[in-house]
Amino acid sequence: TKHFPLRRTARDLVARRRRSVHAVDDVSLRLRRGTVTALVGESGSGKSTVARLLAQLHPLTSGEIRLGGEPAVAGRGRSFRRYVRRVQLIFQDPFASLNPVHTVRYHLTRALKIHGRAGSGETELEQNLADLLNRVQLTPPQQFLDKFPHELSGGQRQRVAIARALGADPQVLLADEPVSMLDVSIRLGVLNLLRDLKERLHLAILYITHDIASARYFADTTLVMYAGRIVEGGDSERVTQHPAHPYTQLLIASAPDPDRVVAEEDQEETGTGEPPSLITPPAGCRFHPRCPKAMERCRTEPPPRFDLSDGQWAACWLYDGAAANGTEPVADPA
Ligand code: SF4
Ligand code: MG
Repeated sequence: TKHFPLRRTARDLVARRRRSVHAVDDVSLRLRRGTVTALVGESGSGKSTVARLLAQLHPLTSGEIRLGGEPAVAGRGRSFRRYVRRVQLIFQDPFASLNPVHTVRYHLTRALKIHGRAGSGETELEQNLADLLNRVQLTPPQQFLDKFPHELSGGQRQRVAIARALGADPQVLLADEPVSMLDVSIRLGVLNLLRDLKERLHLAILYITHDIASARYFADTTLVMYAGRIVEGGDSERVTQHPAHPYTQLLIASAPDPDRVVAEEDQEETGTGEPPSLITPPAGCRFHPRCPKAMERCRTEPPPRFDLSDGQWAACWLYDGAAANGTEPVADPA
């Protein structure tokens, strides 16, 4: 194959963002097929870095990635190509991810050809193109195939970007803030489409967002990231209704309306201090300078994960069941 747009996009992206790459540390997560996992955090928490590591746009300095039990191999060989076919990224800005001089037909044909899925002959290609557009509900397909990106709405462009990712027949979709640049009125439609694709195509979706309310609506599992670490995880309903970690509690308390489905406005900062630099993170619990419940040990000892009930866990000393007071771990300090 002469061209490899994903890889080219990838290189551009790494080059453009090299200076803002943040370290992540001790991050462990499992994506299951047929489920959406939300990774929630403020900008600068390292959540996009996790997506870029999973897409193999950045090399891991330690640790490993497995896909269906098999270790992912870096490099440029056959198994790397198989990996990048199975693990597709969807970016925040659909306008930037589509080439403005090319039509929808061009983008999708190219994706199908690269992944050997164009079929034999014109008729089969047309059918496959129509299938992709039908899957993302751009119908009738003939109305969209010969359009240029600027002739589409933001939501339609993101649907084309999703269709292009589906052209690879992926198992995993990494969606980095896929709706945050879209008009509020169409965000729900795109999230519902992704949820529908998760079911029908049995995809594992990583949904990266700063909007915890949308995670509750859209994700099966929610992980909360702070300063390069995942600090809480569990079933989305539990994590959002009974947040255990003080940072998650802060995120929920500062959401304009925790019961809304998608944000009315983007609000990335929580208003009670800035996230720390990942280059020199605070010692101990990285949240301690902002934590209203910080204790002495929080300043020096990084908290491990403590298991709560129903699969929920939090990396916070409040849940240390073996602490001096001898109380049981509490799931709902509020
Ligand atoms: Fe707050 Fe301490 Fe828990 Fe960190 S470990 S979130 S500082 S109580
Ligand atoms: Mg980001």
